[in-house]
Amino acid sequence: MEKIKMTTPLVEMDGDEMTRILWKMIKEELLLPFIDLKTEYYDLGLEYRNETDDKVTMDSAEATKKYGVAVKCATITPNAARMTEYNLKEMWKSPNGTIRAALDGTVFRTPIVVKGIEPCVKNWEKPITLARHAYGDVYKNTEIRVPGAGKAELVFTAEDGTETRETIHIFEGSGIIQGIHNTDKSIESFARCCFNYALDTRQDLWFATKDTISKKYDHRFKDIFQEIYDAEYDEKFKAAGIEYFYTLIDDAVARVMKAKGGFIWACKNYDGDVMSDMVSSAFGSLAMMTSVLVSPEGYYEYEAAHGTVQRHYYKHLKGEETSTNSVATIFAWTGALRKRGELDQLPELMRFADLLEEATIGTIEAGKMTKDLALITSIPNPTPLSSEGFILAIREMLEAKLAE
Ligand code: NAP
Ligand code: MG
Repeated sequence: MEKIKMTTPLVEMDGDEMTRILWKMIKEELLLPFIDLKTEYYDLGLEYRNETDDKVTMDSAEATKKYGVAVKCATITPNAARMTEYNLKEMWKSPNGTIRAALDGTVFRTPIVVKGIEPCVKNWEKPITLARHAYGDVYKNTEIRVPGAGKAELVFTAEDGTETRETIHIFEGSGIIQGIHNTDKSIESFARCCFNYALDTRQDLWFATKDTISKKYDHRFKDIFQEIYDAEYDEKFKAAGIEYFYTLIDDAVARVMKAKGGFIWACKNYDGDVMSDMVSSAFGSLAMMTSVLVSPEGYYEYEAAHGTVQRHYYKHLKGEETSTNSVATIFAWTGALRKRGELDQLPELMRFADLLEEATIGTIEAGKMTKDLALITSIPNPTPLSSEGFILAIREMLEAKLAE
């Protein structure tokens, strides 16, 4: 069989620990035999980040702006223990944070739905994609613990010195105060990322805040979304047959629990933090959750939502067999390849991405899966496989599909 051609390289961001091992296996068994794979390689493994003073991370983000599509392996975010383990010059920042800031992007997380791994919420038939605004609010707060009686005020001083003041509260005794902010620019980027991704995946977009209580702060989010929608997206949404839907956050939560799925739920920073963990755990497994960073200009970076699976890596280093789930990392590759195919008009590459996803899901539905899934599946007598065994089983099914 002739290998499938690519025209533009993908930005390939390699990573750490067990996911780095899976990365190599996926390339060798599931990609290189079938595709004339073109990538521009960036090693975001912690050792090389340290060697380059983290320059490699910025370079990979710049390359993503140049080429438009990247695929990323999970990476270590250093903490005190990693400083000694890797003898680091500095406690380098999270690569995901660096890339997200460089691209001004929003992260969309979607569960991979498989028969036999049922969501806890029985009416969820299709995936629910969660988009979390990643700037400001309580994550960039300023707080004061009020020691006793006094007056708390909110003061804004404009560049020309003009002051705007509001009384927050007249304290009769001790208490607490918090100041939070956001910027129109960040909210606008978030809105455009969400509208673009909804169009891209042809799914309805839900957005919710508490604007009835927060009449200026949350209301500004609601207004910015609506203004951008009316000016730039209304016609496109109608043409695509999808809907933008705004409601109150408590109403959204109630509706999500009763919904069938198949939509994108955009959340403010805190709501997204809380709700993404609820939605992802209710769908079954972190190892089955994909993640894509979308910039307002339409650059895409695909990855798995889970980390480097450190515990499994230490077993691997001791020579023990591992059973690490590669599904989300495979779907990061298929997401990136399909997007590359779409942008470069390579239908064969897009078809390959579809078939690799079908083979991956088909392998699990045939009862062959890694241990994490074998523990939670409703399929009777599943066959638990090793990390490599699972990838080889997918290869077998992929080859059969490609031969059809
Ligand atoms: P983790 O790598 O997601 O793993 C936590 C646990 O979840 C694992 O020990 C394993 O449970 C289970 N798990 C996660 N993914 C799995 C998979 N693919 N297959 C099977 N089981 C899976 O999180 P962590 O251990 O907290 O973090 C490890 C490193 O990853 C840290 O250095 C962190 O900085 C980094 N991290 C990176 C990213 C990213 O790059 N996007 C995201 C999160 C964390 P059992 O041990 O019970 O089998
Ligand atoms: Mg959280």
